Amino acid sequence: MEKLLDYTKYKLKPKEEIVELIKDKDNLFVFVCGKCYKEFASVIPEDCKELYPILKENGKNVVECETIDFLCNRHHLDIRKSGFQDGLKKSDNVLVLSCGVGIQTVANFLEDKPVYAVADTIPQEGQHGIALYNNKCAGCATCFLTATQGICPITNCTKELVNGPCGGAKNGKCEVSKDKDCGWEKINQRLKVTEFNFWELPVQFHKYNRVNFKISNKYNTAVREKRSRNFYGGVYPFENKEYTSEKPIQQFPEPETVEIPLSQHTGAVCESLVKVGDVVKVGQKIGDSKSFISAPVHSSVSGKVTAIETKPHPVIPSGVTTITIKADGKNEYHESVKANKEYEKLSKDNLIDIIRDKGIVGLGGAQFPTYVKFKSPKPIDTLILNGCECEPYVTADDRLMIEHPEEIVGGMKILMKILGLQKGYIAIETNKPQAIEAVKKTINNLNLTSAIEIAELPTKYPQGSERMLIKKVTGKDVPLGGLPLDVGVVVNNVGTSFAVYNAVVNGLPLIKRIVTVTGEKIKNKLNLEVKIGTPVSEILDYCGADLKDGDYVLKMGGPMMGLLQKSLEVPVIKGTTSLLVTKKPDIKLSSERSCIKCGRCVDVCPMELYPLYYWYYKNSKSQNVKAELDNTGLDILNSKSKHGATNCIECGCCEYICSSKLPLIDNIKEMKKEAREVKS
Ligand code: SF4
Ligand code: SF4
Ligand code: SF4
Repeated sequence: MEKLLDYTKYKLKPKEEIVELIKDKDNLFVFVCGKCYKEFASVIPEDCKELYPILKENGKNVVECETIDFLCNRHHLDIRKSGFQDGLKKSDNVLVLSCGVGIQTVANFLEDKPVYAVADTIPQEGQHGIALYNNKCAGCATCFLTATQGICPITNCTKELVNGPCGGAKNGKCEVSKDKDCGWEKINQRLKVTEFNFWELPVQFHKYNRVNFKISNKYNTAVREKRSRNFYGGVYPFENKEYTSEKPIQQFPEPETVEIPLSQHTGAVCESLVKVGDVVKVGQKIGDSKSFISAPVHSSVSGKVTAIETKPHPVIPSGVTTITIKADGKNEYHESVKANKEYEKLSKDNLIDIIRDKGIVGLGGAQFPTYVKFKSPKPIDTLILNGCECEPYVTADDRLMIEHPEEIVGGMKILMKILGLQKGYIAIETNKPQAIEAVKKTINNLNLTSAIEIAELPTKYPQGSERMLIKKVTGKDVPLGGLPLDVGVVVNNVGTSFAVYNAVVNGLPLIKRIVTVTGEKIKNKLNLEVKIGTPVSEILDYCGADLKDGDYVLKMGGPMMGLLQKSLEVPVIKGTTSLLVTKKPDIKLSSERSCIKCGRCVDVCPMELYPLYYWYYKNSKSQNVKAELDNTGLDILNSKSKHGATNCIECGCCEYICSSKLPLIDNIKEMKKEAREVKS
């Protein structure tokens, strides 16, 4: 398995070598590879930070710099071409900052421009390079590609000659293997694009002794350290929270009509308690179920029921029975919505009943009925409020903690009372300093410092996942296939705590929530307080979404775990943390590509699974592969196995990092289904 963990790495060439290289060259165009290291955002800019001063100090004109993800994949260059074509035309020389595979790909792409390597590839055991094309790199750490204009003599010449051809080639074919083109013939052709005279170079040595293990080890150690920080695996996607993190919560205007689905929770769908023509008020219960795992739904407006029919739903593709209510604009509250000044005297059972009756569900996106967690058959010794909000872009919880810390802490006190706990934790990632400050201040003001502790956690995705959070805060491992209650822990989102407070103290059911509306296609990016049932299309309109050209992707939730929405005709539901509208990605996920066994999915999986094996299992046409996988002992169809697909938490890290952009999550969902069928 070790070999799966290797993938290409590179480092900038020594300064003196770069100075020598550029001394007679100007009007430079620089290509930088933005992966394999995209998740370590600092690595590429650090390299550039070193490269640019060298170019500047030497008085060079840098026409343009273009960062391309997976530069080794020609497809990525082709689709970005229109954006950098002009700059390229104006430049005379092209520098490439990437591994040996990326540089070779650029050389193929720019047949008539001189290309120079400013990096050396760090040797790694195992597979090198992630190119989907024929270019290869042996990782010898002494890149000859500058001299040979982007055609590697090591991997193209059978004898690995670095000073010229052996002379045995016939009709352009290698004397060792007649099926193979002579690498030096190709280099000769390619050298015509530059005035540089290779044949005048002093004799070059294939200097394996130049491998600087000090550098590569330091590099590898840094990568591993970052990977294992807090928990194994995970990724560091661009956060993009700055779009809305400073935007105070605004109230979205009263909707004229709301559409309230009878399922906005895990568990049984509710039955309608109203009929068409009924007049309802704000907070009136309009749907409920007798099932244990379910949660009632309430009207978020006062008005008249105009339809009860199956409508599109953001989570359930087949749609769900939905109650449409035309608002009368009076916003009259139902008699059941009344404040309870004596709430501190309520018993544990009364409190649980209120939480159920007011339809409180997990607001982090999971929508699990909250009251069920508090009827645990197992003893609970720890409560954790989850304020990590590790999904990029989303800032709804962040703003809620900044603006409503009293209600969140108040809700936590109620939950701790139910569980009979003296101690609880609020976990917040350190990228939310204002939230940490606000919650801390509230805890101090309420003299709760010995009862509630803030766990400040380093920012890393998916820190907010229950399993990672519990491990970090309590040191406990939730067993495979188990639940937090198996280790005596209940986790609730901070938004849920806020909703619990409002339900118990103000008698308010869950009829509104905070939604972050964000993404490149949104003009006015905002944090909005929105009534449940408000049509998504109205919110997008309000925020100036640019949807006309159809070049957009709408997700409900964040980019990692959010659900892709095919229709704008869906309403906001209890679990809607965010509406994210971005441009369609240049590179789409496609099952047409192949897994190249780069192993990066293994590297980032916080559940320590082997996602590529699931891919092979579902997609390989060869029965041998399945048989081989069965022989690995990984037992991937068994839910009790450490490597079983059912252990996947669908965090999306593997899909995010996948070199081949494979739709790994859909594949895993199918795998899980198959595993369940095998079980039954
Ligand atoms: S010269 Fe060595 S490091 Fe450079 S591309 Fe070729 S094999 Fe890779
Ligand atoms: S989605 Fe599943 S397999 Fe992929 S990284 Fe997350 S837990 Fe691992
Ligand atoms: S599934 Fe993707 S990330 Fe994993 S090994 Fe294959 S190509 Fe690499």
